[in-house]
Amino acid sequence: MPMLMLKCKTCGIIFSAMYIPDMIEFREKSHSDSNLIHSCTRGHSNHYLIENYIDLS
Ligand SMILES: [Zn+2]
Repeated sequence: MPMLMLKCKTCGIIFSAMYIPDMIEFREKSHSDSNLIHSCTRGHSNHYLIENYIDLS
């Protein structure tokens, strides 16, 4: 399963955002709901767009 990573906009560390079963479905869904909030492992909450995700699969 692909895992998407994000870079924290506050402290810059890379953290795992989510596992997704289907990248195409994720992109379609994310375009309609593109402003998602994620928290890094240090607890900083930021908004992220689809372009911010790093696909390491
Ligand atoms: Zn952070």
